[in-house]
Amino acid sequence: MLSKTLLAFLAISAQHVLSHAIISPRAGGPIDYSDPSGKSWGGLCATGQHQSPIDLAKGMDGVLDVERNAITLKWEDVNSASIENHGPAIYVKGPKGSLSIKKKSGDALTWALDSFHFHTPSEHSFDGKKSEMEVHFVHQTGSGKDVSRAVMGVLIDAASGSQKPNQVLDMALEKALLVKKMHQTEKTGALKMAELAATIQAQASLTYEGSLTTHPCDENVRFFISKTKLYVKPETLKNAKEVMKYNARDPTTWTPKPYSFEF
Ligand SMILES: [Zn+2]
Repeated sequence: MLSKTLLAFLAISAQHVLSHAIISPRAGGPIDYSDPSGKSWGGLCATGQHQSPIDLAKGMDGVLDVERNAITLKWEDVNSASIENHGPAIYVKGPKGSLSIKKKSGDALTWALDSFHFHTPSEHSFDGKKSEMEVHFVHQTGSGKDVSRAVMGVLIDAASGSQKPNQVLDMALEKALLVKKMHQTEKTGALKMAELAATIQAQASLTYEGSLTTHPCDENVRFFISKTKLYVKPETLKNAKEVMKYNARDPTTWTPKPYSFEF
């Protein structure tokens, strides 16, 4: 007879398999979320020393608190943007802007907003707790080998009670069901990017030196995770999940502790 513990274990394992459905490889590299550790994706995903995402436990070495006024998001409103299915993730392109950090020396480091995209569920977690979704605003400077990236990540849940859904996220994903197939694109309505930037900056962020969370898992990525939580309409979350399925890498545990970058 099976013990209660074993039965519970089997139930959890079955759930684990179901929630990590295989997704077709994405252009530019193999991303198979049936291995959410990413180790089998090859390259730096398997051998990197500073891989994202991570679990943001309190007081973790290498993870710094960034004061609200040390970081500036300048994002510009747009009348329309385009969404594209890039394989596992929905990307939003069009909005322009920048992310700057003020260094102790007084100098500023600035990256230009390139695009943003979504993961369901969230990739980063706080003390082991994930959210329903995570958005990554990818900023970069330079190109080729000299590329430097700064990603602002924000955790997202479905709004309930008095929680207000965010206009940009709902609008960006409004037509998600129309881009179910790879490379399909659609136009969005107006995105109030400046208001979203202000909302995210209303609270401090955590930061660490990490990597892209998808193949090729390039390192030299300055990750910022805002302490602001964002919300979407429950229907938006449902549609996003229907299109992207499970497209979140697990927090990495096999790499050394993250190291913080100098301000
Ligand atoms: Zn991402």
